[in-house]
Amino acid sequence: MSKPAEHLEGRPAMLHPELRAGGDPDAILRGGRRLDHAGGSSGPLRAEPEKQPRGAKIHGNRPVDQAEAAARFIAAPEHEKMHDERLWDLRQKRDREMHGIPEWEELRSLASAIKEHTLTHLDQYLEQFEANARSNGITVHWARDAAEHNQIVHGILKDHGAKSLIKSKSMLTEECGFRAYMASVGIEVIETDLGERIQQLDNEDPSHVVVPAVHKLRTDVAEVFSRTIGTDPGNSDVHYLAEAQRDATRPLILAADAGMTGCNFAVAETGTFVVCTNEGNADLSANVPKLHIASIGIEKVIPRLEHLGVFVRLLSRSALGSPMTQYTSHFRGPRVGGEMHIVLVDNGRSERLGLSEFWTSLKCIRCGACMNTCPVYRRSGGLSYGATYSGPIGLIIDPTFNARKYSNLPFASSLNGSCTNVCPVKINIHEQIYAWRRELVKRHEVPLAKKAAMKAAGELLSRPAAYRAAIAMADAALAHLPRFVIYNGLNAWGKHREVPHPPAQTFHSWYQANRGGAT
Ligand code: SF4
Repeated sequence: MSKPAEHLEGRPAMLHPELRAGGDPDAILRGGRRLDHAGGSSGPLRAEPEKQPRGAKIHGNRPVDQAEAAARFIAAPEHEKMHDERLWDLRQKRDREMHGIPEWEELRSLASAIKEHTLTHLDQYLEQFEANARSNGITVHWARDAAEHNQIVHGILKDHGAKSLIKSKSMLTEECGFRAYMASVGIEVIETDLGERIQQLDNEDPSHVVVPAVHKLRTDVAEVFSRTIGTDPGNSDVHYLAEAQRDATRPLILAADAGMTGCNFAVAETGTFVVCTNEGNADLSANVPKLHIASIGIEKVIPRLEHLGVFVRLLSRSALGSPMTQYTSHFRGPRVGGEMHIVLVDNGRSERLGLSEFWTSLKCIRCGACMNTCPVYRRSGGLSYGATYSGPIGLIIDPTFNARKYSNLPFASSLNGSCTNVCPVKINIHEQIYAWRRELVKRHEVPLAKKAAMKAAGELLSRPAAYRAAIAMADAALAHLPRFVIYNGLNAWGKHREVPHPPAQTFHSWYQANRGGAT
């Protein structure tokens, strides 16, 4: 673990004068409004910062209770408000960028078609990619699953006597439990993406595929850094914190034995791959040490270099509402005197490819737009899903890893379809969420009580006369039942809502009385 940052002691907050709010030298203004989140103001939000709500409790293979963790997140109003506003801000920026490109829908269709074509010829393009990468001087490995991926990387590091590894953000390595594995074999891993480093130091998983620490207030980050790199616990100025982390991590980067990156796109015709970042950290991870290892999911391959432009135009606009990522780095082969290894990882992807209703989820380019727009995700935080992938894309990917453990997740959606509308590669996300619900019922992976309730509802709804009699009885009873009978632990719906007053007349009886004769 890094040492306390003595060099930061007594250092004042560094803010450009134009960003300072009157009366508060540390606050940040944007568009005349004081920012209230981790990217914003520097004074304490209140005397005692709100405690960060933690993610879902994991109990082995038992179904993750997303609703329970979401309720804890919602019960932390500063976190919930910041999270909701910050992600909605990204969604609005995405919309502005989208409106600036007249051919946006064509781009989406093209991206979707390229991905569909590639996925239906995946074996062919993977072999082409491998052959071209090898001819570029890259060593190519294949990993069937997470365990094999971790062992292969460990083997490469062992061959080089490497004891420390710097890496840029990669959801695939999160999938593989890579950091925990490396810790178990005595190799130090240092994340170089700021958000991911914050999460690593806090021993938490990323809560978003693009902005891993988006659920944290700046006071949470100040607490983590004061505990791990020795910053002033009372100083939550974002510039101070970012510089502290830069100063603490830079020496570790310079001394690392090996570097690791993920991959956004692997180009079959050239055997090259592309990593998109906003901090330049992938370039440091790839270029400072002589040994570069890239972990690549097999679905990342695209046929030709000319296809890259389609995805690059969509990716950052959909993710952060910016025209481009700051860095779009192309890796062609090992640096002079160095070595480059690629690990092509399956980890359930081939199996997913065979699922007729769910295979198009492999088109995902991990932009996070579906998360930013999802009302459930925005208000419950990514860690409430208790899985590598959260939000709408998580709901359709996670059950492919473990249907029992993630059986509750497809129900954490209002099926409003906004995720599908914003997806740059046109995945029918909300339809797949609904399909997963059916699939989980078929596989007996829903609680017995829910199954029994659905069965009873089905029976009732299929008998109009019985349904109308039940409604009449319920309306009569609701008017007289004491509150505790209606609002109790069995009525989750009523926790945050009032049951409406029963109408004097149902629509059906009104229709019969007023229009019945006309039909
Ligand atoms: S499913 Fe679509 S919107 Fe969601 S992360 Fe993947 S590409 Fe982006």
